[in-house]
Amino acid sequence: MSAGKTAVLKIGIPGGLLYYRYGRLWRSFLEELGAQVVESGETTRSILSSGVSKAENESCLPVKVFYGHVLALKDKVDALFVPRVVSVKRKTHTCPKMLGLPDLARAACEDQVPIIAPTIDFQTGLWSNYQAVYSTGRIFTDSPTLMLRAGLKAWREYRRYQRSLKEGLFPRGRLELDPRRRLCSGNELRVAVIGHHYNVYDTFTTMSLLDRLRSMGVDVVTADMIPERLAREELSRLPKPLYWSYEEEIVGAILACSRHRLVDGIIFIISFPCGPDSIVRVICEQENRRLGGPPMMTMVIDEHTGESGFLTRIEAFLDMLRRSSAVREREKVPSLA
Ligand code: SF4
Repeated sequence: MSAGKTAVLKIGIPGGLLYYRYGRLWRSFLEELGAQVVESGETTRSILSSGVSKAENESCLPVKVFYGHVLALKDKVDALFVPRVVSVKRKTHTCPKMLGLPDLARAACEDQVPIIAPTIDFQTGLWSNYQAVYSTGRIFTDSPTLMLRAGLKAWREYRRYQRSLKEGLFPRGRLELDPRRRLCSGNELRVAVIGHHYNVYDTFTTMSLLDRLRSMGVDVVTADMIPERLAREELSRLPKPLYWSYEEEIVGAILACSRHRLVDGIIFIISFPCGPDSIVRVICEQENRRLGGPPMMTMVIDEHTGESGFLTRIEAFLDMLRRSSAVREREKVPSLA
C-alpha cells in the first residue's frame, strides 16, 4: 500500500461482530482520510453459508458470519480494516475470539489482501490508542491535522449513533437509522431483547426479531436503552467484577430490568457456542429469579436454527406474558424515559 497517499484506496469493512458498534465510527474515520469505504452490508444466506463452510467448526456463529463477510469483500478491496479490539474499558477485556479477528481475516484472505489492524487497548492507556489511530492515519496522509479532524469527526459520528440506539432506533443495512422505525411506540406489552449487538441487530441471524416483535404489537427495549445509571448500580452489586467488557453491559441491562421491572419479559439472545455468554447466562437467570424479575427466556442461535421453531418459541413466550399478571405489575414501575 505504498502508493496509498496518492491513489484512493478501497478499504473494506466486514459487516459482522463489532461493526454493529463501531462501523459508523470506522467508516467516518476512513472516509475523512480519503479512503473509499466498501462494506459487505447486511448478512445474507450466501454470506452465512460461505462463513460456515470455511471457518473453524468450533467457532461461534458470529465469528462464522464475520468470516463470510470477509470472504464477500476480499476480492473487491485493496485492504480490509479489522481492528484488534483488546479492551474498551480498564480492567475488562473483549472475548478472546475478538482478539484474533485480524488473524482470522488474514487466514480467510490467504494473505492476499493487506489487513489494517490497529490495536485498541484501554488497559495500556490513551497514548497507545492514539498511536494506533496515528499509525492507521499514516497509511492515508502525512497530515496530523487531517488525522485529528478525521478522528474527531468519527467520534462525533459514533456518539450520534449511540444516542440514536439509546432513543430506540435500530440499525439496518449499512447501519442506517430511520427515525420512523422506533422500537417503542406505546404498546401495552414491553419486552427486553438483550444480547451482543451482533446478535440483536443482525437481521438475518435473528430472523428479523425486532421487526417481528414490533409487528406483533410489542414494544422492544434493548440494552442500549436501559439507563446507564441503573445498569452500573447492578454491576456494583455483583460480588466480583466481570472480566468481559461487553458482557458487563448485558448483565447490567438484564439485572436492571429484573430489579426495577422495566419490562414484562426478557429475551436473552446467545450464539452457540459462546463461552462468556454461557457464564453470564447462569448469573442472569439466577439473579433474575432471586430478584423476582419478569419471565426470562434464553434463545441460543446457531447456523442451524430454524425459523419456525424460533418463532414458535417467541410466540409462546409472548402468549404467556400476555396472560401473566406481570403486565399489570409493570404499571407501577418507573418508565424508561
Ligand atoms: S463473545 Fe461469544 S459470541 Fe461473541 S465472539 Fe466471543 S464467543 Fe463469539
